[in-house]
Amino acid sequence: LIQYLTIAVGELSSPVLYPVPTFPMYGICATALGREKVEVPLREDLDLDLEALLRAVEEKRPSLAFFSYPNNPTGNCFREDAIKRVRQEGVFTVVDEAYYHFSGKTFLADALQREDTVVLRTLSKIGLAGLRVGVLIAKEEIAREINKLRLPFNITYPSQIIAKLMLEDFYPIIEEHVQMVLRERERLMRELSNIEGVKVFPSDANFFLFKTPYPAGLVHAELIKEGVLVRDVSYLPNLENCLRVSVGFPEENDQFLQAMQRVMKKLC
Ligand SMILES: *Cc1c(COP(=O)(O)O)cnc(C)c1O
Repeated sequence: LIQYLTIAVGELSSPVLYPVPTFPMYGICATALGREKVEVPLREDLDLDLEALLRAVEEKRPSLAFFSYPNNPTGNCFREDAIKRVRQEGVFTVVDEAYYHFSGKTFLADALQREDTVVLRTLSKIGLAGLRVGVLIAKEEIAREINKLRLPFNITYPSQIIAKLMLEDFYPIIEEHVQMVLRERERLMRELSNIEGVKVFPSDANFFLFKTPYPAGLVHAELIKEGVLVRDVSYLPNLENCLRVSVGFPEENDQFLQAMQRVMKKLC
């Protein structure tokens, strides 16, 4: 869907705008199509830099913008008014709500009413990544145009059947899973922040950032020795010493917490 939007919206000679760091596929799709990328760094507090975005819009005249909402890999939802302010400049706005189930925040009403806004969702972050089912929500006129680009049979019939079953008959299972993740997210963030030297960042997603005084590569390697794999995101702008951890099942989270306690004691 990200690729279809990058093909369909605006001239290919016009740039694609998005804040960084964010989900890499926006940049990959723009590059693959030969579109110029306008990457605007987030502020130090990891929210949108509205002034810089407006300057970039004025200078580069992008026709398409992507906002990961919540943002991957930072975990936060951006200020709603900043997204709307950029859109007001005539930029077609894609609100990527891949982590919607964990944030509860949405641009759905805008996508249903406006021709300059679409919302993306996926089943991938609620345990069904293997299905390869994503959803674009838009006004019918917009969806019809995007649909012209869609290859026939791009989603398998079994995937469609399973997706429908999961979103209808078996939805309580997903809801229960989401509730477990939300409970565990709060517990994990609280207990991790109690470890001396660890700083935890707020999150609206099923993962969150944390930083320590030590090089992230070192913490990452020590955690692997403990049998825990997190993501080293410290190479990204504004994320010095930061790692990203996904919320797991309670036993997995306990294992991570114990590993972190040992690693922090060892490194100090
Ligand atoms: C995971 C993710 C997606 C979509 O993943 P699919 O598995 O291709 O549905 C889209 N946007 C963001 C920000 C994501 O993190």
